[in-house]
Order: sequence, then C-alpha cells, then structure tokens
Amino acid sequence: MEAARVAALRGHRVTLAEASPSLGGAVLVAAKAPTRATIADFTGWLEQEIYRLGVEVRLSTFVEAEDALAEPWDAVIVATGSVPRMDGWVASNPTEPASGMDRPHVISSHDLLLGARTNLGRTAVVIDDTGHYEALGAVEFLARQGLEVNYVTRFAAITPKVDAPQMVEPALVRLAGANFAAHTRARAISIVRDSVTIGPTYLPASTNLTRKLPAETVVFVSLNRSNRELFDELQGKVGELRIVGDANAARHLPTAVREGHLAGAAI
Ligand SMILES: Cc1cc2nc3c(=O)[nH]c(=O)nc-3n(C[C@H](O)[C@H](O)[C@H](O)COP(=O)(O)OP(=O)(O)OC[C@H]3O[C@@H](n4cnc5c(N)ncnc54)[C@H](O)[C@@H]3O)c2cc1C
Repeated sequence: MEAARVAALRGHRVTLAEASPSLGGAVLVAAKAPTRATIADFTGWLEQEIYRLGVEVRLSTFVEAEDALAEPWDAVIVATGSVPRMDGWVASNPTEPASGMDRPHVISSHDLLLGARTNLGRTAVVIDDTGHYEALGAVEFLARQGLEVNYVTRFAAITPKVDAPQMVEPALVRLAGANFAAHTRARAISIVRDSVTIGPTYLPASTNLTRKLPAETVVFVSLNRSNRELFDELQGKVGELRIVGDANAARHLPTAVREGHLAGAAI
C-alpha cells in the first residue's frame, strides 16, 4: 500500500491487487490481539489515501505470474508478505525442531487471532521464536479467555524485542492475576495430545532436565517464511521488478513500509 501510495503521488497510474477481500495484510491479524486494535489505524489511513489518489484496487485477486504478465506493466512491485512456518524449527536449536508439530491443536498466531480453532481448551503453551509482540499478543489473547498459559522462549527474557518500546511491562501488568508463567532460555522438545515437553536451549534434546507443561492448545510463533514465489517467477520477465516488505524477508511493519516507500519512489 505504501509503494502504491508513493507511486501514485509521483504521477504513475497504479493498480493494487490484493488476494483477500480487504486491504491491510498481516496488520489486520495483529490488530486482533488485545489492546492492539490501533495498529490498523495506519493501514486504514493508507487505504484512504490509496482510494483518494485514484489507485485502481482489485480485491479478492490472487495474482499469479501469468496474471502479472498478461498486462503491459512498466513496473511490478511484489509485496506478498510472509506465512507462518509450522515446522517446529527455532533458531537456538536448529537441528532439533520440536516433534508433534503436525497435531491439529498446534496452530499459528494467525490461526489463533483469526479464530480458526474454536475450542481452545483450558491450557495453552505459546512457543516464541521471534521475541516480538506477536507472542505476547497470543499470550494475552489466551489468558483473557481464562486459559492457563505457559510462554516458552529461547530468549533470556519475555519478548525482549519490544521491551525498549515499553510494551512488555504494561502487558505483564494486564496479565497479573492470570494463570501465566514464562520459561526463558527454553524450547519445546516434543508435543503430544495434551502437553508440551520443554528443555533448556543450552542442553541437547536428550537431557533429563525436561518439564511437561499442560497444553490443549499450542501456539507456535515462528520466524515466518517469505512469500516470494511470485517475485522469483517474474524475474527477467518484466521491465522493472521489485520486492518489498515481508516478501523480501519476514520482519516488521516499519521495515515493510520503508521498503514500500523506497520502491514507490524509485520507479
Ligand atoms: C499477529 C501479528 C502481530 C504483529 N505485530 C506486529 C507489531 O506489533 N509491530 C510490527 O511492526 N509488526 C507486527 N507484525 C508484523 C507486520 O504485520 C508485518 O511485518 C507487515 O504487515 C508486513 O507487511 P507486508 O506488506 O510486507 O506483508 P503483509 O502485511 O503480509 O501483506 C501481504 C499481502 O499480500 C497479499 N498477497 C499475498 N500473495 C498474494 C498474491 N499472489 N496476489 C495478491 N495478493 C497477495 C496478502 O493477502 C496480504 O494482504 C505482526 C504480525 C502478526 C501476524
């Protein structure tokens, strides 16, 4: 949206295709976490600007390479985002991904916040490989529904990447009194029907120093996989081709907006 906005401001005739019925991408998911609705104010503003500037918006339009090649675009900017990786891989123990990830009660934060699992049960484990707000949002979402929540992370602290912007302590205040516990420098070793076995990141999975946590729902918050197939297929086939945001490498909103802005300004 930022790429489309800036390109339109610079006088280009811009078409924006979006696979889903609404604009906003992953921000619409993020906004479903408790207290986070206002993160969508920004994408709401972008959306207004895009319509105001006369960008042709095509909703519910999943673009494949052949669609992109069917019209004579001077430039194509790919901003297809990223998808959760549900393979149990965490950066601290890359050779020992958690087993049991294929069980139906193991879901992504996207599925959780979008309500894909209706019966969450009474106990949950959130496995956080990002250290970002996404995991804290998942914890709070579950705790607000009365679940006992265990947060497991490879990091030395709870979601350390949002500590500096003062997001952790207020969340902990809101969680005070909830049935919530945090396990740091820890990772999931195995997931079965109703529990997750965790162990320290600094010991092999074969250690006896494990702990079993009750879990009728397991939320895996992964370092996402970039959605870059469209970009790869279009390489060498269109005049000017750019990739921005999570499609380029899964990161966060400010980076996606910055890359979109630069791409819109460069064409
Ligand atoms: C639960 C959650 C919480 C988050 N919290 C934060 C936070 O607190 N702070 C922060 O900075 N970031 C946060 N993020 C990350 C942030 O939302 C993303 O980094 C950002 O939205 C990336 O923007 P993007 O435009 O690159 O991709 P996306 O927002 O993923 O948008 C990509 C869009 O492309 C569409 N699409 C994909 N393929 C096609 C195709 N072939 N044709 C047409 N359309 C297609 C998708 O439908 C989607 O709408 C969070 C993410 C989640 C899921």
